[in-house]
Amino acid sequence: MTNKISTPLYKDEQLSRALGVNLYIKREDLFPIAGGGNKGRKADYILGKCLNEQCTAVVTCGGLQSNHTRATAIKCKELGLKCTIIIHSEQPVDTRGNYKILKLLGVRIVFCSLSDVAEVMDNEMAKFVREGEKPFYIWGGGHCVEGSLAYYDLATEVISQADNVEFDFVFHASGTGTTQAGLHCGFRSYNRDTRVIGISVARDTERGRSAVIDSSIELCSELGLPNALSESVEFDDNFTCGGYEKYSDELLACISEVSISSGLILDPTYTAKAFLGLKHYVDSGTVEKKSNVLFIHTGGLLNFLSSDVI
Ligand SMILES: *Cc1c(COP(=O)(O)O)cnc(C)c1O
Repeated sequence: MTNKISTPLYKDEQLSRALGVNLYIKREDLFPIAGGGNKGRKADYILGKCLNEQCTAVVTCGGLQSNHTRATAIKCKELGLKCTIIIHSEQPVDTRGNYKILKLLGVRIVFCSLSDVAEVMDNEMAKFVREGEKPFYIWGGGHCVEGSLAYYDLATEVISQADNVEFDFVFHASGTGTTQAGLHCGFRSYNRDTRVIGISVARDTERGRSAVIDSSIELCSELGLPNALSESVEFDDNFTCGGYEKYSDELLACISEVSISSGLILDPTYTAKAFLGLKHYVDSGTVEKKSNVLFIHTGGLLNFLSSDVI
C-alpha cells in the first residue's frame, strides 16, 4: 500500500507571532486524495487490510458530509473495489461537499435512519456475498485499529521532518478517538512529556476520553507496546459549541482571524474547534509562551465549503 505518503510540516511564522508560541502545522488537509484530510491516511491503512484479506468490496457508513465515506469511496475506485456507502440522514435536496463527490463517483448510496444503520450495513454485506463478492466492513469514521496505526506512524513522520524540535503540546480535532489514540501513543513513545490534547468536535469528555483510551489500549496490544503509553489521555469538550456541526460566533471569528492572518483555512465542524481550543490554552497560560506546539490540521475544507457559515 501507499503507506509512505508524507504531508508538509512547517512553522507558521504569522500564527507563532500572534500566539507567542512556536506553532508548527502538520498539513494533513493536504493528504493526497481529493478533499484531503485524516480520513485519507486512515483509508490507506484500512484498505490495506482489506486487500490483504483479499476482499473485493467495501461497506461503510457516515453522515451526509462524512469525510470518511468520501475518502473510502475514492480509494475504492483507485483500487478497483466495489463500494456501498450507507448515509444516516434524510436524502438531501441539495448536493454539496462530500456528498457531491460520492454521487460523482457512482458508488452505491443507501439512506437510512441512524437507528437502522447496523441492520442496513448487515443487509448490504449480505447483498455483496450473494453477488459473489467478498465484502469488507468498515465502521463509521474509519474507527478501527488500522486508523490508529496510521496516526501512530504519523508521529514518526513528524519527528523526522521537524529535526530536533521537542513538542510540548499537540492539538487536533478529536471525534471517534482513532486519530487521537494513534497520536497519543505515537508522540508519547518519543517523549513521555508531550501532551496530546484532543479537542472534541461533539462528544462529552467522559465518553470521548474513554473511546480514546480503548483505542489506545487496542493499539498498544496490536503493536506489543507497554500499556502505560495509553495513560494520561487528554480530551476536552469545552469547544464543541453544543455538538457536531454546531458553531458559535467565537468559532466563526476564529476561522476568519486565522485565515486573514496566515492563510490557513479552518472549517467549523472540526479544525476550527481544535484551533479555538489551542487559543484558549495559550490565553489561560496552560500552554506557556515560547512552547513548541504542533497543530495537526486534519482537513475539513469540504465541510467549510458545504456549510452556510461566513
Ligand atoms: C473525522 C475527522 C476528525 C476526527 O478524526 P477521528 O479519528 O474520528 O477522531 C478530525 N478532523 C476532520 C477534518 C475529520 O474529518
